[in-house]
Amino acid sequence: MLVNAVECKECKMIVFSRASEDVRHCACGRVVVMGGHRHFKYDVYTEPAHEVKKINIQASAEELFNDWKDMRDEYGLMSAS
Ligand SMILES: [Zn+2]
Repeated sequence: MLVNAVECKECKMIVFSRASEDVRHCACGRVVVMGGHRHFKYDVYTEPAHEVKKINIQASAEELFNDWKDMRDEYGLMSAS
């Protein structure tokens, strides 16, 4: 599915929120995403270079929700390369 994500150009990671209560930081902690795909929000600290983008994830909304709920953390943070 297509999700809203933010690429942090400082640590070269992409983060997205898997569920409405999922708050996730990039590796360097300067980008934070929240709200899931329906209520996507993000914030940045100390002005990191970053880019908001849509990315295609090979998982359904339910799989992403369960990944968050079960704390498997397979999705949500990935290398930008
Ligand atoms: Zn970062």
